[in-house]
Formats: sequence, C-alpha cells, structure tokens
Amino acid sequence: MTELTSNIDYPRQTLDAVFKPKSIAVIGATPKRGTIGHQLLQNIFQFGFSGIVFPVNPKYESIHSIKCYPSVSSIPDPVDLAFIVIPKESVAQVAEECGEKGVGGLVILSAGFKEVGGDGLKREEELSELQRKYGFRIIGPNCMGILNTAPSVRLNGTFAPTEPESGSLAFMTQSGALGVAILLAVKKRNLGVSYFVSVGNRVDVSGDDLLEYWAADERSNVIGLYLESFGDPRRFTNLSKEITRHKPIIVVKSGRTAAGSRAASSHTGQLAGLDIAVDALLHQCGVIRVSTLEEMMDLVLALTKNPVPKGDRVCILTNAGGPAIMATDAVVNEGLTMAKLTGATRKKLAGFLPEESSLRNPVDMIASAGPDEYGKAMEVILEDKGVDTVIVIFVPPMLVEPREVMKQVAEASSHHKKPVYCVLMAEDHYYDEIPRQFKNAPPLYRFPESAVRAISAVNGYRIWCERPEGNITTFPCEDPAIENIINDQRQSGGGYLSPVDVNRVLRAYGFPLCNVELVPTDGDVVVAAEKIGYPLVLKVHGEDIIHKSDVGGVIVDIPDERQLLGAKAQMDRSLADAGVTDRVEGFLVQEVAKSGKEVILGMTMDETFGPLLMFGMGGKYVEVLKDIAFRVMPVTDVDAIEMIKGIRSYPLLEGVRGEERVDIDFIVESIQRLAQMVNDIPAIVELDMNPVIVTADRGACRVVDSRIRVAPLRPSAGQT
Ligand code: ADP
Ligand code: MG
Repeated sequence: MTELTSNIDYPRQTLDAVFKPKSIAVIGATPKRGTIGHQLLQNIFQFGFSGIVFPVNPKYESIHSIKCYPSVSSIPDPVDLAFIVIPKESVAQVAEECGEKGVGGLVILSAGFKEVGGDGLKREEELSELQRKYGFRIIGPNCMGILNTAPSVRLNGTFAPTEPESGSLAFMTQSGALGVAILLAVKKRNLGVSYFVSVGNRVDVSGDDLLEYWAADERSNVIGLYLESFGDPRRFTNLSKEITRHKPIIVVKSGRTAAGSRAASSHTGQLAGLDIAVDALLHQCGVIRVSTLEEMMDLVLALTKNPVPKGDRVCILTNAGGPAIMATDAVVNEGLTMAKLTGATRKKLAGFLPEESSLRNPVDMIASAGPDEYGKAMEVILEDKGVDTVIVIFVPPMLVEPREVMKQVAEASSHHKKPVYCVLMAEDHYYDEIPRQFKNAPPLYRFPESAVRAISAVNGYRIWCERPEGNITTFPCEDPAIENIINDQRQSGGGYLSPVDVNRVLRAYGFPLCNVELVPTDGDVVVAAEKIGYPLVLKVHGEDIIHKSDVGGVIVDIPDERQLLGAKAQMDRSLADAGVTDRVEGFLVQEVAKSGKEVILGMTMDETFGPLLMFGMGGKYVEVLKDIAFRVMPVTDVDAIEMIKGIRSYPLLEGVRGEERVDIDFIVESIQRLAQMVNDIPAIVELDMNPVIVTADRGACRVVDSRIRVAPLRPSAGQT
C-alpha cells in the first residue's frame, strides 16, 4: 500500500456520491447462490438500478451473462459507488484502489473490523485513513447495505430477501440483522421506504450525517432510527431539535430495560437509571421514542398516511359497543380528550341513523350500519369543528362487505384534512387487500389500543411542534471565591465540598439558604445556637453519613437551650446506636425553614450525555415515590416548566384541599439557576438539594440540605 498522509487529497464527497450513483461496482460479486455477493447483485438487478453495474471478481469472466472485471481499476468507465463484499484482509487494498480510480462512495458489507476488536481495530483505522486521504464516503464496514427507491436511482444495495416498496419513510439501523426484519415489517404494513441504510460500524457516515441528508430530502416525510448507541449526543441534539420541527423522527432505542442504578451516593444519582438520559434527551429534541418495532410501524403508518391534527379531541365512530369502549378507555388513559359533538352534528346523524344508535361520542351506529351509513356519518363528524381526529371502528357483521365500508370511509376522509384511523377487526387478508385497493385509505389497525397509542404519539408530536423554543436565562453570579473553593477541593482529590463551601456556592447562584453554624465534634452547640436563634434544627455532619435522618441525625424545631442540650445528648446516643460515631465530623445548628412542600433539585453526570438535571418531589420519600423528571443540558425555561408539570404530584404544588399554591415560578427559576451553575462549573459531578422547601411566599423558600461533589483534578501528563 502507498504511504498514507493526513492531507485530504480529494475534497470530501457529499452523500449523493453514495445515494445517487450513475454507476456501481460490486466487488466480490459471485454466481454462487446463498452468498451475500450473489444476493446483493441479484437485488441490484431485480430492483432495476437505473445506472450501470460492474461485477468485480478475478475468478469469473462473467456473472449472469454480464461481463465481470478482475479488479476495479480494470473497469474502463468511471465508477461512482463500490459495494465491497470480500474477505476483511483485502478490504483496505481494494478501498485504496477505489480511491485511485476516483470512486466517490464505498459501501463495505465485509465484517471483521472494530466489532471484533484486536486486529479489527487496526483494519478499521486503516479505512478511516483512506477515507481522509481520498475523500470518498464510507457506509459500514460490517453493514447490510443501502437502499434508495427514488425512481431516478432505484438502488437496492442490500442483501435482504424482501423486495422493498417505494414510500416516504427514511430508515437508519445500527443493527444489520434487524435491518432485514425491519424491511419485512415495513412491507407487511404496506408501507414503503425512501431510503434504508444499515450504518454498520460508522467509520465515516454516521446516523447524524443521514439525519442531515434526509432533513433536506423531499421524498422522506418520516425518519425512523434504530439506535443502539449515540456517537455524538451533542450533534444529534442540535440536528434533531431542528428537524423534528418539520419532520417527525421516530426512534427505537434498545436498552430500555438496562435496569439498575449507578453506583452513587446522591438521591439524584441513584434515581438516574441508565436509560433516563436517553429518554430525557429524545424528549427534549422532540424525537418520538417507541419500545417496539410494532409500535414504530403503527406510528409510521399514522404519520405517513395522516396529517398531524390541530388538537387532541378524538371522536369514535363504530358499529359495535365493545371495541368502542376499549377505544374510549385508551383515549382517556393516553390523556387525549373525547370530543363533544355539537347539537347540529347529532341532529344530522339522527337524520339517517336508526333510533337505537347512540349519537354521543362514541357514535354507535349498531350492527346494521353499512357502507352508506359509514360514509354519511364520516362526512358529518369530520365537519364538526370540535373533532380533531376520528377513529372508525368496523367489526364486519354478516352480509356487510368490509371493502365497501372502507371505500366509503376513504372517500369521506379524502374530503377533509383531518386524520382518520380505521380499526378493522376482520380476517387477515383484508389488511393486505384494502390498502392496495384504496391507495388513499386511512391507516388500518387491528386493535383499538394500537390505533390510540399511535394517535397519542402523534398528538405528542403536535404539542412539540407548537411548543415555544424557550430561552436560557442567565443570572448574575459574582463571587470570585467560588473558583478557588472548587479548585482547592479538586486539588485535594475531589469529593464532597464542606457544608460551608456548599452554602457559599449555592448562595452565589442565588439559592435561598437557612442560616447555619458548623460546630466541630468537641465544640459547643449552645454558643452556635445563640448566633442562629431559636427555634432551630440540630443535624449531624459527616461526609459518609449520607442520610442523616436514618441514623437519628436530624432533630427539628428545638425551642430553647434546655431542649437543645437534650436533643444533642439524644442524637449522640442515636449515632452511637447506629454505629456511626466515628464518622461524625461535626454538627450543624440551623435556622428552621417555614413549612411548605419539599422538593428535590439535583444533578448527576452521565458519561455520554453530560450533566443530567433532576427535579421531583423531595424529602425522605424521594426514592420510594420516584416522582421525578430529568433533563439533559441545555435546559430552557420551557424545559423547566415542563419538568415541574411533568411529575405526578404537580397538583400538590398547585395546592389541593384548600392548600395554598406554592411559588412555582421560584422552582422554575431555581432549575434554571441550577442549570447555569452546572454549566459554569463543569467539575461538579453530583449535586443534591433535598429538600428545597417551597412555600406560597417566595421569600420563605429555603434549601435546607445539600451536597456537592466535584471531580478530582487529573494529574497532568508528566506528573508522577
Ligand atoms: P437527610 O436528608 O440527611 O436525612 P435533611 O437535612 O434533609 O437530612 O433533613 C431531613 C428532613 O428534616 C427534611 O426533609 C425536612 O423535612 C426536615 N428539615 C431539615 N432541615 C430543616 C430546616 N432547616 N427547617 C425545616 N425542616 C428541616
Ligand atoms: Mg436531605
């Protein structure tokens, strides 16, 4: 191989080099059935590639009566794209040859690279160097190929046995094996793809590159991703936030059940399950996350066949009671609204429906309803301004032909711009025949719940599109001592800041604190108490005593000196009983906060996603209630409000049973202050404020317990 340089000799190609080639070479093509090299070539022929194909294999003079070339350099014409299906050892050399020939893109299906470790890593690095040297784009290695159904291209460069249909779904998968299953699932739902890409090891082209490419592609209306890991969460965030405003992105991210909490000594750390960051990130980017491929297909069906509704009001039209009840339950459980039909609508329905019908939502036309009734009722309901989405349920009674009903439903819905979902509870063959027969038919579902789940996801997407982008507020913070406090702690090996330092940092960022005195173990709590004033709280302090109340280390509302001494003696005994006396580093004498609702604000560092911010109901029960919300950075005011409103106990903050509403704006601001602090001080790896006591009066809100841990300073190179 020639000497590699890090200079880019050729300009880096755009992805058009990969997806819109005029000529392709299939290196490793073979006439042997049952091999990838055979199936790939077969698929390219069968799908009717619009350009020229050059099989390459030194062992054959022709394959399928087409001239076969011994090497890519022996092809007399230019080659835009090369598929590489040869043993791993020869891939680099062939790639180099492609580079010399001026090939713009490589799709490397061969395996045996990064995924196998060892020598594979070296081989992958070699590819990466060649990519930089020649500027060609690489898909793979270790992938199952690419697909572009555009009529001007028609490239099925995969070895999947399913012949794909053309459609508006652009799909990327990080798992090749799953890719085959996905193409099959797409086909089974009578859906089609615009693009399909198995990215493999992503030595060059990443999922993010594809997102960018598809964002601008007119044939792709929905983007689907099967993700196993994030290459560059920051880039993904920036891209997807932009794209989802006009094109939905649906993600199946595996690892949902990756249970277990991190080894952490903070509430926030313990509560941040491994999957929390992914959920938070996707949510903040407007990306729709689903847990199964089936759910994804339900949703793709919805988004490709239906417009996004204007609101969340659903009307159900049925000929059978049972499924309508199931649909109604699902609508309510998903947080959607059952539409209220106007008097005029009901009157119109009464004009042609039998007396036994129910004219309220769900509209039950009873079993006698046929194509005519369905058609007319659909027109009337779709006219009603109080209806945003319609679910049509049809359970075929004897003598009524489902195709006729669906024809009328399709006809009526084509007159309106509202989404319509059909739940057809009929024999299997209809699910295939109806979409083929009526191209404009609304999406078909087998069960009410799957239709409603799709409606709910689409509704979530609507809310995202309407949601303001939000702002990042910056608060003044001018305590020059903070930097030193943090650096000193880092220098001495990191870990928890002392309570005094914690308070200094929090105060600098505008958090309201209780006055507090730290008393050494041999100090006098009474002297400290005089500075604070009664009533007060006595707490134990020790870096390793994480939950003070667990060991009898918190006594609140101490009214006077006598009781303080009693409390101190009692606490000493409790600490001894709990066996933590030798971990006691001192005592805190603290002002009592006005009573209110206890919330938690926290942060824990995620290796991949950076700081994770947490808000939730706080106090002692936080781990039991797990009523919390996480966000990744950056966190805007809109994110902060959503975090607060997103927890189950939000109504408690609003006040129930005549209670006062707590100052929610204070919490919104506190979340933003925390975000700023975390952003300003990257050395913070863990932080808990639990509880923050919030009251109706902002002036009385207090952070009464907090911990901050910072990372150790990394010894710089050369230090011993
Ligand atoms: P820990 O979380 O280590 O057990 P905390 O300092 O959070 O200890 O105290 C436990 C509980 O005691 C709090 O959830 C709160 O209900 C109450 N508490 C602690 N400090 C105060 C205070 N200054 N004013 C009022 N209540 C307090
Ligand atoms: Mg606490």
